[in-house]
Order: sequence, then C-alpha cells, then structure tokens
Amino acid sequence: MRESIPKIGVYVCHCGTNISGKVDVEAVSEYAAHLPHVAIAKNYKFMCSKPGQQLIIDDIRENGLNRVVVASCSPRMHEKTFRKACHTAGINPYYFQMACIREHVSWVTEDRAAATQKAKDLVRGAVARVAHHQQLTSRVVEINPNVLVIGGGIAGMQAALDIADGGKKVYLVEREPSIGGNMAKFDKTFPTLDCAACIITPKLVAVGQHENIELMTYSEIADVSGFVGNFTIKIRKKARYIDINKCTGCGECTRACVVKYRPYTIDETGQIKMHSKEADL
Ligand SMILES: Cc1cc2nc3c(=O)[nH]c(=O)nc-3n(C[C@H](O)[C@H](O)[C@H](O)COP(=O)(O)OP(=O)(O)OC[C@H]3O[C@@H](n4cnc5c(N)ncnc54)[C@H](O)[C@@H]3O)c2cc1C
Repeated sequence: MRESIPKIGVYVCHCGTNISGKVDVEAVSEYAAHLPHVAIAKNYKFMCSKPGQQLIIDDIRENGLNRVVVASCSPRMHEKTFRKACHTAGINPYYFQMACIREHVSWVTEDRAAATQKAKDLVRGAVARVAHHQQLTSRVVEINPNVLVIGGGIAGMQAALDIADGGKKVYLVEREPSIGGNMAKFDKTFPTLDCAACIITPKLVAVGQHENIELMTYSEIADVSGFVGNFTIKIRKKARYIDINKCTGCGECTRACVVKYRPYTIDETGQIKMHSKEADL
C-alpha cells in the first residue's frame, strides 16, 4: 500500500559534458515535468556536487517533495550520495530512484536524438517506480561470514589467502584435481620472466596448510541458493576412485587405472600430460 501521495522531484545531471554532450538535458527535464506526480523537474551541471545536493535538499524542504529521481551516472557511483541528501532533508532515503543516463546512454552512443529519447524513457521508468517505493529502514542481521572462492588459479588462491588471513573461513573450490590453474603450467611469466614455480609454489603450500581454508579439489558447484549473507552452496565432489587419506600424490594410480580414456596422465618426472578423447594412450 502506498504510504503517501507521491510528490516527485526530478533532477537531470549534465555531468559536465559527459551527459549534456550527447543528451538534450533541457528536453529531458521538460519532459519529466509533465510526468504523473512530478512537482519539480530541473537540470544542473553537477548533481553530485555540494550545490547539486543542496538543490535537492532545499526543494524537499521548501516544496514538500516526498520522492526524488536523479538522472545521472550509475547508481554504483552516487546512489548513496543522493540517498543521504534525501535523508538530510528529512525524507526516507529509500524514496529515491536513480536513472543511469551516462553509462547506459551518453557514453554508449553518438546519436543525440536516440540518446535523448532513451534518457526520457529511463526517467519515465524511474518516476513510475519511485511512486511505488515504500519506506525502508536499515537493521542489523546475523550473517554467515564464510566465503566461497571458485577456482584455484593464482587469482583464486591469492583471494583465498587474503580473506583467510583476515580471519574468515574460506571454501576454495577447484574443478581440476589440483590447484594452480594456468600458472602451474608455465616455466616463466611474461613480461618479467620471473620463475612461475617460485611464485606459485609457496602459495600452493600456504593454501594447503592454512587453517582457515578448506580446499575442495576435483569439485564443482552444483547449486547456489539463498541470498547475500545466507547462501547455501551444493558442491559436487567428483569420484577419485582412491582413498584420499592414503593418497601421497605419487600418480601411480593413473598408470594402474583400467579406464581407457583419461583426460591426463602423469609421467615419471611428475609432469601432467593432457589428452584429447582421440589420443592414443
Ligand atoms: C598459454 C598461456 C600463457 C600465459 N602466459 C602469461 C604470462 O607469461 N604472464 C602473465 O602475466 N600471464 C600469462 N597468462 C595469463 C595467466 O594465465 C593468467 O594471468 C593467470 O594464470 C590467470 O590466473 P587465474 O587464477 O585468473 O586463472 P586460471 O589460471 O585460469 O585459473 C582458474 C582456475 O579456476 C578453475 N575453474 C574454472 N572454472 C571453475 C569452476 N566453475 N569451478 C571450479 N573451478 C573452476 C580452473 O580449473 C583453474 O584452476 C597466460 C595464459 C595462458 C593460457
């Protein structure tokens, strides 16, 4: 149920020439002024600046606005900024909606007419949506702080180590039988010609020994459900056909294996050799 009759302020940002160079901001704010429930529609060179925020705050206080739309950059950039302005002016910060007319419009087209039309469409959508917003409040909830890292290449290993060093429990899931990813196959790394093994080996050991890291190799994510702070992950552990507690990683089992096709074998020197299905084993 709607909590109050919407009285919406719409603010179209020029972002210098980032937006106004491609979008007719005057035309967009003029268009917005005639949308349902819109009481004020303005355009301004930098909405995120102090004067830009003050414009919103003053309009809320002086004109009794209870909803705000800002058409500007991505919400990732300034959603918090404008929510804060709403809060400062005394309205619930979630009575706010952003229309992204920079990353989704002006930065991705050369066609001024098309950009202006899309900006109008996005503003119309944001206005329609904000009218249905309800007051929200923040609260503190218990979350599961454990972390899942998928992929045990150099990036996944380093992420797991950093997070684990920070005191969090990490599940590192790798679909291959061992971690290391591409870097484990290199001799030297480009462009510095550093020794790949010298970089990666201490990390392999650190991951294997870290008390906060549970390493799950030869495993894949089967299902993800839940939501931020409360995910449930199903992990499929592939059959190894060996007793993992007795495994020393010697590779002898691959030679004794009766299975005709093996995706890889380990030779006498410990090198992994990959095979295609057609390979003559
Ligand atoms: C032939 C080659 C040469 C290269 N040479 C250089 C170089 O000289 N210098 C340089 O800086 N970079 C080089 N690179 C790039 C280099 O490989 C990467 O920068 C680096 O290894 C990437 O690390 P990563 O952890 O992001 O990915 P990867 O090393 O690819 O590791 C990804 C890991 O995730 C696992 N994985 C993927 N999907 C899943 C899944 N769904 N579930 C579970 N596990 C999964 C994979 O099995 C793998 O172990 C090269 C790449 C190639 C292919």
